Amino acid sequence: MDVLEKLEVLGAAAKYDVSCASSGSKREKHFGIGSTFSAGICHSWTDDGRCISLLKILFTNECIFDCAYCINRKSNDIKRATFTPQEVAELTINFYKRNYIEGLFLSSAIKNSPDWTMEMLYKTIWLLRYKYQFNGYIHVKAIPYASLDLIRKTGFLADRMSVNIELPSEKSLRLLCPNKTKESILKPMEFITKVAEEEKNFVSAGQSTQMIIGATDDSDYKIINLSQHLYKKFKLKRVYYSAYTPVNHDPRILKVESPPLLREHRLYQADWLIRVYNFSADELFNGKDENLDLEVDPKVMWALRNLDKFPIEINKASYEELIRVPGIGIKSARRIIKNRVFHSLDFEDLKKMGVVLKRAKYFITCNGKTFERFLIDLEPEKIKQKLTDKNSLQRPQQLSFFDREVFTSVITGEI
Ligand code: SF4
Repeated sequence: MDVLEKLEVLGAAAKYDVSCASSGSKREKHFGIGSTFSAGICHSWTDDGRCISLLKILFTNECIFDCAYCINRKSNDIKRATFTPQEVAELTINFYKRNYIEGLFLSSAIKNSPDWTMEMLYKTIWLLRYKYQFNGYIHVKAIPYASLDLIRKTGFLADRMSVNIELPSEKSLRLLCPNKTKESILKPMEFITKVAEEEKNFVSAGQSTQMIIGATDDSDYKIINLSQHLYKKFKLKRVYYSAYTPVNHDPRILKVESPPLLREHRLYQADWLIRVYNFSADELFNGKDENLDLEVDPKVMWALRNLDKFPIEINKASYEELIRVPGIGIKSARRIIKNRVFHSLDFEDLKKMGVVLKRAKYFITCNGKTFERFLIDLEPEKIKQKLTDKNSLQRPQQLSFFDREVFTSVITGEI
């Protein structure tokens, strides 16, 4: 098999790993400049908000493991391929020189043994760093069960490493990944955290992980609670959620017609609330329902379950209270605190500061007044109905460069 064919197989095989986002499209017309060749170029965001393009591939899809949800499991009859370290290094450097990519996202199935696979990943990025003097971004997988010594050597060459946690509970892991144990995933994760704390040039862009959503009956509470634990204990940069794509027929997997994308989106929003807005998983779910409300975002869901904490007075509330109001983000809360020192704020001021009044108006007062008189004493169900009213909120809209509400939320996911 030539390198281009391998690239096609192993670029396509990598698309189920969402630790970085989109892969190429399948548009077939060939004319003019530019290429959407589907083999493995994706985009990822850096900490400072830049979007970079990465060559996203598996080193091999010849797996000795048999995870129920995975297209590359050993029991599937699919086209298999394995690169050599030299091939991946050459591809990366040639794509880089042609300005197709700025970095590499290198994942892998487990061929021969975890140590053999980890060694190949190490050799690949060693070649890139030392033979080709490649100083760009490299994200590489740490393979479960691989020796910590190999992971350590690799971590000094990589910017980011990730070990996929795969499933939200040990029970689900036992059911769907009989070859993996909780320890085989958490041990390398813990090791990477420890070395990163001790050594300056080890995995300098931090560690991330991925969890598959909807293949098992684990609740959103369990998922967000686990993410919270991972952020605290292992100081992960990100937990990525991947709506399960039904690629295998396996009686152990929950029946799903299509990937639960809306649920995945709500989980990302809840994740944002625990990372940036200081919510805890217990607070968000409040023991009432173990799953997120798909009709409204998690901040609205929380506010409706805690209406006794509202309305809050904009001119007096603390920063912590402000950021919990639906429609008020980090930036607008800071602007409120800064500006109310000079004069008391009204609803017009809030609009100019980027507050999304169509959501916030149910939960705030300005100088003791509500936005409209009828908003007083609304029942949670009534507010929810108004917030999900298709005519008022979900009318299709053209994105604008200059509409602050849409612009900031598209970039940051802020809610
Ligand atoms: S070890 Fe990874 S590649 Fe192999 S079957 Fe499991 S999830 Fe798929």
